[in-house]
Order: sequence, then C-alpha cells, then structure tokens
Amino acid sequence: MFLKGKSAIVTGSTSGIGLAYAKALATEGASVMINGFGDEAAIEAERKELETLSGAKALYDAADMSKPEQIAAMVERCHAELGGPDIVINNAGIQHVSAIEDFPPEKYDAIIAINMSSVWHLCRAAVPHMKAAKWGRIISTASAHSLVASPNKSAYVMAKHGVAGLTKTLALEVARDGITVNCISPGYVWTPLVENQIPDTMKTRGLTRDQVINDVLLAAQPTKEFVTPEQVAALALFLCRDEAKSVTGANLSMDGGWTAA
Ligand code: NAD
Repeated sequence: MFLKGKSAIVTGSTSGIGLAYAKALATEGASVMINGFGDEAAIEAERKELETLSGAKALYDAADMSKPEQIAAMVERCHAELGGPDIVINNAGIQHVSAIEDFPPEKYDAIIAINMSSVWHLCRAAVPHMKAAKWGRIISTASAHSLVASPNKSAYVMAKHGVAGLTKTLALEVARDGITVNCISPGYVWTPLVENQIPDTMKTRGLTRDQVINDVLLAAQPTKEFVTPEQVAALALFLCRDEAKSVTGANLSMDGGWTAA
C-alpha cells in the first residue's frame, strides 16, 4: 500500500474511468475524495467500498466542475478533512457530437468549462498545498483527441488540446517542487461516455449501431479493442510512484496504436 497517508481528489469518479482511478488509489491505501453526479445511494455505496479497500477515509464532494468557486471549495474541504490534496486526478468530462453549424453554443461552453477550464481551476487551488508538502501528483485524463482530431467533436478536441497544453506548462512551473504533471490520452474506452455518443453518431452519419462501433469508434484503433478503465487507472497509479518522479510534462498515449498511424 504505497499511498498510505496520501490523499487524492478524483473528479468525475462516479462512473467509468474516474471510478477505476478511485478504486486503484484506494487499493494502495489513499484517502480518496470522489466527485461527480449520479444516484445518491450508488455514490454512498462506492464511498463505503473505497473505505473498505483503503482502510482510510473516503469522502464524496458534489462540486460541479463548471463552477470555479465549487472547485476551490472542494480542494479546501479535502485539505481540511483528508489533508493534501497530494494527488489530483482531473477526469470529469462530457461529450457532444455534432457538425459545428448545428452545435449548440451552450454545449460548447459546457464542454470547455468541464473538460478544460476545471483542470486549470483545480490545479490553481491544489498547487499551493502540494508546494507546501514538497510532493504532488497531477494527472489529467486527456484523450487521443488531445493529439489528433475527429470530425463533429470541435469543442471536445479543443478542450483536450488545452489540457495537453496546460500539462506541459504547469510541469515546467512546478518542476523543482517535487510535483509532477502529466496527462493520459486514452483511445476509446468502453464507458457510459462512449456508449452515450453512439445514438448521435448514428444520426449524424446515418449508420447502424454496429457500424458506429466497428467503422467509426474502433476504425481508428489498430488493436480493434476498447481500452479498459482499469488499464488507464494502472498507468495513473504508476505515475504516483517514486519511480515515476522524472515523468513530467508528458502526454502518455494508451490508444491501441491510434495516434501512431
Ligand atoms: P463517464 O461519462 O463514464 O464519466 C464522466 C464523469 O464525469 C462522471 O462521473 C460524471 O458524473 C462526471 N461529470 C460530468 N459532468 C460533471 C460536472 N459538471 N461536474 C463534476 N463531474 C461531472 O465518462 P468516461 O468515459 O469515464 O470519461 C472520463 C474522462 O475520460 C473524460 O474526461 C473523457 O473525456 C475522458 N476520455 C474518455 C474516453 C473514452 O473512450 N471513454 C477516451 C478518452 C478520454
């Protein structure tokens, strides 16, 4: 349990990749603050399971990642109740698939706020605590779309390129403070976020469900397999180790070869 005594905030951890991060960190003994939307009873069951896995306290914070003041309050609550935060995983994200001329401006604003600006606000609030502790790990879930584009995902691709840019900038700023800053760029991971964009893609491109899965989603992924949330979480766990202290400012692909093409 190499993370015993450390605390972690994982945004968007009521589902998908975020939930896998939270479990992986707890399995190594970290106190985890989970965040995201969902069914109250399911979230409470998850929180309790994390305490069982870690033997440490786990908390849920309902901060909306589109609201900077709620993000700052979540960090201060973590500091007061769990210490740290020593580890921050920026993971909350939403998607909308549409041609730019039909893209609702309010969806654009929400994607930029939740997928990109929240990362800046959370880092801004957490870095002073990490500097004081002379240790920190900041990990963001970017995407293959932080490196390459796909049509009809204008806001998402912009936001993820922004996360990759912040990762590099902040890594340089805190390089002498014992803090590493990295992002992980998965290809398609089978989670509700991917499942939910199938109907829109079927409509936008006039395809069947199977065609969307095989000819659109997995078309770009040479392995023809979805990445799993557990694989992404295992890479994040490695980044928290002392052996990974020289890995900083990196955008680590886990995309079945997609961006090698
Ligand atoms: P998901 O839909 O399963 O989970 C998203 C999480 O974000 C949920 O917990 C949800 O409640 C939370 N969330 C949404 N809006 C929020 C808000 N305003 N405030 C706080 N929390 C909010 O999706 P996922 O696939 O697990 O995605 C997680 C991250 O991984 C996202 O940033 C996504 O862009 C990225 N990603 C996913 C894939 C993939 O194929 N699934 C690929 C690359 C990157």
